[in-house]
Amino acid sequence: MLRQEAEQLDQQDLLAAQRHYFHLPDETIYLCGHSLGAMLKQTSRHVTNILNEQWGRQAVSAWNQSAWIDMPQRLGQKIAPMLGANANEVVVADSTSVNLYKLIHAGLMLRPDRHVILTDDDNFPADLYIAQGIAKQHPHIKVVCCSRHEIAHHLNKTTALLMLTQVNYRTGELYDLKEMTMLAHAAGALTLYDLSHSTGVIPLALNNDQVDMAVGCTYKYINGGPGAPAFLFVAKHHHQAMTSPLSGWMGHIRPFAFESEYIPASGMNRFFCGTPSIVSMGALESSLDFLQPISIDEIRHKSQQLGNYFIRLLTEKCLGIHLVSPPDAHLRGGHVAFTHPNAFAIKQALLNSGVICDYRAPDLLRFGLSPLYTRYVDVYDTVDRLADILNKKSYSLYLDLTLAAVT
Ligand SMILES: *Cc1c(COP(=O)(O)O)cnc(C)c1O
Repeated sequence: MLRQEAEQLDQQDLLAAQRHYFHLPDETIYLCGHSLGAMLKQTSRHVTNILNEQWGRQAVSAWNQSAWIDMPQRLGQKIAPMLGANANEVVVADSTSVNLYKLIHAGLMLRPDRHVILTDDDNFPADLYIAQGIAKQHPHIKVVCCSRHEIAHHLNKTTALLMLTQVNYRTGELYDLKEMTMLAHAAGALTLYDLSHSTGVIPLALNNDQVDMAVGCTYKYINGGPGAPAFLFVAKHHHQAMTSPLSGWMGHIRPFAFESEYIPASGMNRFFCGTPSIVSMGALESSLDFLQPISIDEIRHKSQQLGNYFIRLLTEKCLGIHLVSPPDAHLRGGHVAFTHPNAFAIKQALLNSGVICDYRAPDLLRFGLSPLYTRYVDVYDTVDRLADILNKKSYSLYLDLTLAAVT
């Protein structure tokens, strides 16, 4: 397989020009966009403006003058089309974990006669922890984990919520949200999906699929910046009946009346808790504005092609690895992963050769192929270096290395 082939694919790539709008680490192939999306050049200008012109010159007046107070709704409106949702069904606030806490609670209250949160046993651990914490606070609530193939079997009249992450964080395997929602609704349960690895790389149609609730992260394929605030979605017909367990003042119907009794705001505003982090919201808004004109179908198409190309080269050139991602692009999200007994040492060897991917204990390597800045030659060069590392066992240099705090 020739490198020219990869160069040709780059020449035909309709998204190739987008790469120039990003800052990327020098002399490095960055395949961690599924974990922390790269920074847009315009984001640095945008955030500097918020700091200097708004905070610096307007100070507290900027809440009105620069419409800081509207950012959580405004950013939600900008995310809504990516979700296939209405503008008034999405807001930006807090982290994915906190939003999950709010919506699990809110969902359980809509099904008071049921007590099970059903999820799959390979769900993202952070999500399982939140559900476990809620079960601990409310001893009648149970978290039931089953394999992804047994979900239909476990849905019954005790199930209050079906809580799933659309893209499996290890394998990249996808759920069909429409199908899962139909199954859940047939059993009388509500759906709550984590779209952290979906948003910005997979077209979504939450309203069409009749999804009840969703949360997701904005620092992966949306490139909103480290710790960027997350989003929450609740279908309109649930708004009136839902309440947030975090009855903070920003979710009050009249926050600036400073009344002593909590009355929830109408619509999604009731899911706000405290003051939004404006600088982070600013970085996120810059990336949402950048993404707005780019076709999500084009992004998905390239994501699938990059994944297919990566898998084809891996299969041809790399012995001893075990692909865990579905070879069929329709069943796969934006990253490709494989296992190897020496995965951690291989990650270090790749890093030494100029490729950043990530490692998940005990034996998994993940490669995020973020379509806006990953080229086919990056995929080619990565597999080329990986094959060399595997053939020469040059990863053995790193076998005794200890893990950094963040892997
Ligand atoms: C990235 C990710 C999160 C992140 O949660 P934080 O609260 O931002 O730390 C949550 N769930 C899933 C499935 C993720 O992939």
